[in-house]
Amino acid sequence: MSPAEELASAIRQLRCEHSHPCQPPEGSLFAPGDCEHCGTSWAVTTTQGMSEPLRAQLAELLKSAAWWTQQRGGADRYALNVARVINGKAAFR
Ligand SMILES: [Zn+2]
Repeated sequence: MSPAEELASAIRQLRCEHSHPCQPPEGSLFAPGDCEHCGTSWAVTTTQGMSEPLRAQLAELLKSAAWWTQQRGGADRYALNVARVINGKAAFR
């Protein structure tokens, strides 16, 4: 995934009204499957637990970081770190 794609993926997750399947074969009540809209895993959704206003603010910040990434070709490494945490690819350092 390119930096721009990582940022875009985090923005999709922040704006998504997650819907996790609780019926086989996609998932079960105790282990729901990935979000039907954006593919986020249940483990990531439950650990985010962010309020709506915070999610919206963060999505705006990452949107401007994604714009700069496309203009300049280099991603802001702090924004990229945040995107990776949201994508469930890294722990927050
Ligand atoms: Zn989702």
